[in-house]
Amino acid sequence: MPKYMTKQRRLLTEYLMQHVDENLSASQIADALSDQISKSAVYRNLADMEAEGKLHRVTSGGGREAVYRFSGGQACSQSLHLSCKKCGKTVHMQQQTADALVQSVAANNDFTVDKGETVIYGVCAACRNKKASLS
Ligand SMILES: [Zn+2]
Ligand SMILES: [Zn+2]
Repeated sequence: MPKYMTKQRRLLTEYLMQHVDENLSASQIADALSDQISKSAVYRNLADMEAEGKLHRVTSGGGREAVYRFSGGQACSQSLHLSCKKCGKTVHMQQQTADALVQSVAANNDFTVDKGETVIYGVCAACRNKKASLS
């Protein structure tokens, strides 16, 4: 059942749609929208959207603050996500690789992977190269 979307929720959703697959802390989002939505409304809507499964809460290392990732529709729900632990950048796994992985988990573990909910953590090429060039 479609719920009435408040203006606040709409503004928040528009903002998130421009930042698909980015890790955003609640305060980052609140700051970006501070001239349009009150902080408490941002936090309340984020919590609602998380409860509705529209927003993923990212368990961030050490930080006490809630960090969220917004999945953008079909492309996201059909993709495995690769997330860099260093810079927080999230990209979609190459589709063929993702399908092969999902299929082999299904065959070998008798387990159906929910692609849109799955994030694999590691280090992206940019961060790896940065480290290499420093040493
Ligand atoms: Zn995605
Ligand atoms: Zn990175």
